[in-house]
Amino acid sequence: MDIRPLIRKEVAVLKAYEIEDVSARVKLDAMENPYALPEDVRKEIAFAIADAPVNLYPDPQAKGLKAALSEYIGVPADRLLLGNGSDELIGLVISAFGGSPGLIAYPAPTFSMYGIIARSLGQETMELPTTDDFGLDFDGSLKMMMDRRPKVIFIANPNNPTGNLFDRDKVRRLIKGSGAVVVVDEAYYSFSGETFINELDEHPNLIVMRTLSKIGMAGLRVGIMAASREILTEVNKVRLPYNLNTLSQTAATIILKHGEVIDCQVKLIVKEREKLFASLSALDGVTAYPSKTNFILFRVSGASRIFEALKDKGILIRNMDSPGRLANCLRVTVGTPEQNAEFVAELKKMTG
Ligand code: PMP
Repeated sequence: MDIRPLIRKEVAVLKAYEIEDVSARVKLDAMENPYALPEDVRKEIAFAIADAPVNLYPDPQAKGLKAALSEYIGVPADRLLLGNGSDELIGLVISAFGGSPGLIAYPAPTFSMYGIIARSLGQETMELPTTDDFGLDFDGSLKMMMDRRPKVIFIANPNNPTGNLFDRDKVRRLIKGSGAVVVVDEAYYSFSGETFINELDEHPNLIVMRTLSKIGMAGLRVGIMAASREILTEVNKVRLPYNLNTLSQTAATIILKHGEVIDCQVKLIVKEREKLFASLSALDGVTAYPSKTNFILFRVSGASRIFEALKDKGILIRNMDSPGRLANCLRVTVGTPEQNAEFVAELKKMTG
C-alpha cells in the first residue's frame, strides 16, 4: 500500500532536524557543557536512582524538581512549567496559542526548530528581518507584524546561531506592541546574564524559556518555562501528563542542589569563550562574531570544505553555510581548553 497520500501535507514537505554522528573525538557541535560532574555528585545521583520507583509513573507535576528550579532561577514554583527539553515547550506553546493555521514569527536567522515545529503543527511561519550585525530590525519587524498579526513570536536571546543579545528596549517594545504571545528563549542565559524573567508581571503575554541542556544536563532533557498563571493554565492543557521521566527528575534535582558546581563550570566556559574568540579573531581570513553564549559563529571562505576537513580530523563543529546571511558560516561550541586549542590549531592549518 502506498502510504504517501496519508501523510499530512505539512509533514510531507518537512526535512527532519539533522544531527551529525555524535561519535566525534572532539565534539563541539551541540552547545553541550564539556565538563563532567564531580565524583561525589555522580555517586549521589547513582544512589538516588537506585532507589527511584521506576515501576510507577513519574510525578506529573515534577514537584521536587520544580522546587529546586524555583530556588535556582528565583521564580515561584507555581509560575513554572517543565518540558522534555525546551524543544517540547516550543511545541506546547504553539499548540496552545497557534491557529488553524496561525502565524508563528521569529527574527532570522535563528534556531531552526521554531520553524520546523511550527510547520509540523500546521502553522505558517514568518521570518522577521535583522540588521547586518544580526540585531533586530525593529521598524521592519513591526511593520510585518502589523500587516500579518502573528499569534506567537519566538525571540532567542542571546540568539542561536549568531550568539548576540538583542537590544533590550527593542525586545520590550516588541513584547508590548506585537499583540502576540512572545517567547523570550533564554537557553543561553547562564552565559549572558541578561534576563526578562523579572519583567513577567509587567507583560501578561510574555513567556521566558530556559533549559538545563547548556549547563551540563543535556542528556536529562529538562526545559523550563516561566509565565503568568493564565498562560501556564493553557499550556498545561496540551502537555502530556508524564512528560518528564523519573530518572531525569531525580538527577536534575540533585545536580541543581550543587549549584556551585554548575556556576564554576559556567565561569570556565565564559573564560574559554573569550580566549577562543581572541584566537579565532587572530586568524587570517576568519571573521568571528562576538558571543554571549557558549558557542561562536565565524565566517571563513570555503566553510563547507573546512567543516568536512575538520570532521576528518575527528573535530565536529556545526556547518551553518547556506545561501544568504549565513553563507560561509560555521558555529563552534566552546569546549575544554585542550579541545579549543586543538580546534584552533587545525583551523589555522586550513586557513593559513
Ligand atoms: N532554544 C535555543 C535557542 C537553542 O539553541 C536550543 C538548543 N540548540 C534549544 C532551545 C533547545 O534546547 P533543549 O535541549 O532544552 O531542547
